[in-house]
Amino acid sequence: MPSRKLLTHHIKQPVKIILFHSCSLEELLPGAQASNEEQLAGYVLSTAASTYHAAGTCKMSDPSTDPLTVVDENFVVVGFNNLRIVDGSVLPLLTPVNPSATIYMVAEKAADVIKQQNAAKK
Ligand SMILES: Cc1cc2nc3c(=O)[nH]c(=O)nc-3n(C[C@H](O)[C@H](O)[C@H](O)COP(=O)(O)OP(=O)(O)OC[C@H]3O[C@@H](n4cnc5c(N)ncnc54)[C@H](O)[C@@H]3O)c2cc1C
Repeated sequence: MPSRKLLTHHIKQPVKIILFHSCSLEELLPGAQASNEEQLAGYVLSTAASTYHAAGTCKMSDPSTDPLTVVDENFVVVGFNNLRIVDGSVLPLLTPVNPSATIYMVAEKAADVIKQQNAAKK
C-alpha cells in the first residue's frame, strides 16, 4: 500500500530529532519493537491523527493511472462534466506546513481554470 510506505519512510526523521534533543543513545519512539515496515506502519496507524489539517479526501490525480483519483487536473469530479471540488480535500498529500496558504493558491488556480474554460466556450 503506497500510503503506508510513505508513512514509514518519513517516520525516522522526527525520531532522530528526539534523540538529538534528549541526548539519549536509545531510540525513544517508536522503539526497538517497531523496526520493519509492517511494524512501523502499525505504529503510525495507531498513533497518527489529522488534528486540524484534514485534507486529501477527494484526491486530485490522473484518473487514467490512479484509481484513487476523485478530481482531475481541472478540479472536475471524475465521471461528471460540470461538478468541481475546490478546497483542501483535493490536495493529494498534506502540506508540510499549515495548509491555508496552499489552499488559497489552489482556489486561485481553480478560478483561472474555470475562467479559461468559460472563455473558450464563448
Ligand atoms: C482549529 C483549527 C485551527 C487551524 N489553524 C490553522 C492555522 O493556523 N494555519 C493554517 O494554515 N491552517 C489552519 N487550520 C487548517 C485550515 O483552517 C484548513 O485547512 C482550511 O481552512 C481548509 O480550507 P477548506 O476551504 O478546504 O475548508 P473550510 O475552510 O472548512 O471551508 C469549507 C466551507 O464550506 C462550507 N460548507 C460545508 N458544507 C457545505 C454545504 N453543504 N453547502 C455549502 N457550504 C458548505 C463550510 O461552512 C465552510 O465555510 C486550522 C483548522 C482548525 C480546525
